[in-house]
Amino acid sequence: MNRCNKCAMPDTRPDHVFENGVCPACRVRDLEVDWEEREKRLLELLDRHQGEVIVPSSGGKDSTYQVIRLLELGANPTIVTATTCHLTPIGRRNIDNLSRYATTIEVSPNKTVRAKLNRFGLEWVGDISWPEHAAIFSTPFRVAAEMGIDLIMYGENPQNQYGGPRGTEEAQIMTERWTQEFGGFLGLRTSDFYGVEGIRARDMQDYELPPNLHGIEAHWLGQYERWDSRRNARVAEKAGMEQHKPCPANWWKAENLDGAQTGLHDHMMYRKYGYGRGATQIAVDVREGIVERGAALRWIHEHDGMFPFEYAEVRIDEVLDRIDMSADQLADILNQYTNWELFEKDDSRPWWPVLKC
Ligand SMILES: [Zn+2]
Repeated sequence: MNRCNKCAMPDTRPDHVFENGVCPACRVRDLEVDWEEREKRLLELLDRHQGEVIVPSSGGKDSTYQVIRLLELGANPTIVTATTCHLTPIGRRNIDNLSRYATTIEVSPNKTVRAKLNRFGLEWVGDISWPEHAAIFSTPFRVAAEMGIDLIMYGENPQNQYGGPRGTEEAQIMTERWTQEFGGFLGLRTSDFYGVEGIRARDMQDYELPPNLHGIEAHWLGQYERWDSRRNARVAEKAGMEQHKPCPANWWKAENLDGAQTGLHDHMMYRKYGYGRGATQIAVDVREGIVERGAALRWIHEHDGMFPFEYAEVRIDEVLDRIDMSADQLADILNQYTNWELFEKDDSRPWWPVLKC
């Protein structure tokens, strides 16, 4: 495993091709962008849609910033929240807080079906959050089609901030192909679940794009203005959002507070690729010049990938109860999906294997 010369992110992430020891996210950062011209294009886009825009939202720092910013620009956002698989108390409060600024539509698919999808995701592809990631993309499109609003504004293009294949940086319109390739689907299709433990095609519609996407455009606000997570967190806090670090493996206090399963999702990422949420967050701050690379590496070795026995005040046994899985079953799955070329076992911390480099 090699780490980026600039930000310390490892090269184990899928599609994360390094050039001369530098990761794609650092290279994207060095590109010159004419942000004034981009803002002009954003205003034209909003004008073309009479300011009517759907903001896919978790109630988090980025969603809150997007809503406040679009209101400032004179737009009329409608907030669409695809409820997380296991909503946390703080997540509930932040969704309610943001609904003070614009009409909010929350969509909560059948929770019995959803718990089964979480368990299958974990067992089949090592990803508990499969249905959540699918719903983040499908739900806003479904609501847009129902309401006749044909503009959707997501936040940051994840290919930009965390790096991705070259050539996608400039993609401004999210296509079905993008959601399939990068939306966290891991090769699983909704039809793979039909008939399993009584799941019907009808149950899976919540996780599918609507049949007719004609005319609906999805963009990222991060393509039109420089994305700054810390600024977003400040604006969101001022707007009433609550922020507490969800677990010791996270570096930022203001990200991913709404899903109790997120800790386990991020821990699985650590087991598969050798980096967790904390490493991706601190790498952003290294790029911003807020943290030095050496200090970031020390923090990563002391915290990244720590097992989330509690996440945003929800204990792991509550998370497992909901998906009908025992701790022993989880331990087996964790071992099965761990890339043992990157890790070694340490009997003193059985839930947190030691990264070799
Ligand atoms: Zn880098």
